Amino acid sequence: MGRMAGVVESKQGQEAIGGHRERVAGLSQRLGLMPLARALRQVLKQDVRILAYHRVLDSVEPEGFAFDAELISASADMFRQQMALLRRRFHPLRFSELLDCIDAGRAVPPRSVLVTFDDGYDDNYRVAWPILRDLDMSAMFFVSTGHIDTGLPYAYDWLAHMLCSMPAGELSLPEIGLQTQLAGPGPSRRALVAAVLDRAKALDAATQEALITRLEEQLAMPREGGDDNCRPMTWEQLRQMRESGMEVGSHGVSHRMLAKLPRAQMRAELVDSRQALARELGIQAQVLSFPVGGRDAFNDEVIEAARDAGYRMACSYLAGTSTLAQAHHFRMARLPVERQMGMAWFEAMLSVPEVFSYTSRSRKA
Ligand SMILES: [Zn+2]
Repeated sequence: MGRMAGVVESKQGQEAIGGHRERVAGLSQRLGLMPLARALRQVLKQDVRILAYHRVLDSVEPEGFAFDAELISASADMFRQQMALLRRRFHPLRFSELLDCIDAGRAVPPRSVLVTFDDGYDDNYRVAWPILRDLDMSAMFFVSTGHIDTGLPYAYDWLAHMLCSMPAGELSLPEIGLQTQLAGPGPSRRALVAAVLDRAKALDAATQEALITRLEEQLAMPREGGDDNCRPMTWEQLRQMRESGMEVGSHGVSHRMLAKLPRAQMRAELVDSRQALARELGIQAQVLSFPVGGRDAFNDEVIEAARDAGYRMACSYLAGTSTLAQAHHFRMARLPVERQMGMAWFEAMLSVPEVFSYTSRSRKA
């Protein structure tokens, strides 16, 4: 497996760190340290916390879930508790309010937090939206416009699905230098699937596409069949969400890593997705999130193209918080929410992000 082994090991390392942080977070909470930490930090640093979610499902159990389990951010119950905590202890903001603060040269309210979703999975509509409405909360949904209404899974998801579903045996993926024996379903298969996705995302766009297409043909699993466990939202669903106060932004057209595309295609992803949002939802999108969002997903050229296309702010998938200094507007860090997080950890991450933020394995820089 060569380099692949290192990836799988570092995943296990991450989980060990995760367990450690969960314990420290729990201890800090029992000692009542979190309100103090929040108050102290507020004096020292005026920044915004932007939470990043992908999917919220009824259950977070990866067993039997034949798609990318790393994209399950929380269960419905966890999400409800998390949103209730934001209401109680923090100051939930909308991006429109954040941009107003910038325009007026005003500081953001203390303990400001924003909620974002990437990609546009239909569970955002079915599971997350009713909870947000119940709690009178808003969120920003960054959608890849080319996927909306198609009913089809994303390319990375289909790659994960094929690898989850194929029989045990020889697996050969020369594009990423992998030749191995694929184990039966279980944790080791899931670790391998996660590692393959990491490697695939490091390839250029054309090679990524070629790898996925080759597997679809080889396994006779065309994406066109789709799957109920992995569908994008429809425009009609997004219109309903907008009417109830949700915000919608761009996540490109086809979920390509912008920095890996030829210049004209990169610019088209930014312009065309913004046009689709205007046409379908009647909005002038102000904010985008860069697909995949790690250090190799965007660069100065991409940021300049985003400005030219009419956006005023962009979120990355780099872990952390950002102040509203101009230099950060197109590099806003976020705090990924992961399904392994208990409530103590979640609250600790929001209170002291420097210590408790989770550098997401699959989207790590
Ligand atoms: Zn994405």
